[in-house]
Order: sequence, then C-alpha cells, then structure tokens
Amino acid sequence: MADCLFCKIIAGEIPSKKVYEDDTCYAFYDIDPQAPVHFLVVPKQHISGPSAVNEDNSAVIGHIYAVIAKLADELGLKDGYRVVANDGRDGGQTVGHLHFHVLAGRSLAWPPG
Ligand code: AMP
Ligand code: ZN
Repeated sequence: MADCLFCKIIAGEIPSKKVYEDDTCYAFYDIDPQAPVHFLVVPKQHISGPSAVNEDNSAVIGHIYAVIAKLADELGLKDGYRVVANDGRDGGQTVGHLHFHVLAGRSLAWPPG
C-alpha cells in the first residue's frame, strides 16, 4: 500500500534490520526498542491493524504466532516474552499496518500503563 511505512520496509524501500522473512510475513528489529529484545512481525499483506482482521485474512496470524515461537527458540528467549498488537488511538497504535511486537530480555510490567 502506498504511503505505508511497513509496506515500504517489506518492499526494501526503507532499510530495516531483518530477523526473519518468508512468503507471508516479515520480522525486523524495532527502531526504538522497549526491551533488550524487541522486534516486530508483520504480514506482507497490508492489513491496517487488529480491527481489520477478518475470516478472509486471519490465517497469516496463526502463522505469525508459529514464526514467533520458532524465533523465540532460536534467539534463546527461554525466560519468556510478550507479544503485543496495538489497535487505534487508545491502543497506542502509531503505524497503520498490523504488527506484533515481541518483547523479551527483562521482566515486563503487567498491567501495561
Ligand atoms: P505501534 O506504536 O504499536 O504502532 O508500534 C509501531 C512501532 O514501530 C514502534 O515501536 C516504533 O518504534 C516502530 N518503528 C517505527 N518506525 C520504524 C522503523 N523505520 N523501523 C523499525 N521500527 C520502526
Ligand atoms: Zn502496509
């Protein structure tokens, strides 16, 4: 999608530090890490956010969770991690392309602020 930051990252038009890529998803390190390990996993298909998920486009999300589990294992995140997908203003979403934050490497507070 034109003018979507993460579509441009997926297309290689904006540089990113790649963690993983396959036919349907792309993972890269967050530019402003909130934990010692902080990367994002995004569907290659433009989906604007969690609220735009429906029965027709949701298969990639199960795949993304499987990819996250594999990456967590490969990266040695044996003490756990958090997966977060923000939606809309109150959810704190700043980029309008569905993305799953993976945060690890420190004890994370709950509930979030
Ligand atoms: P959210 O606030 O949930 O929409 O998350 C968007 C995330 O994208 C934030 O954690 C940003 O730090 C991150 N971000 C913004 N621009 C870039 C970029 N060029 N490369 C990597 N991460 C980015
Ligand atoms: Zn996009």
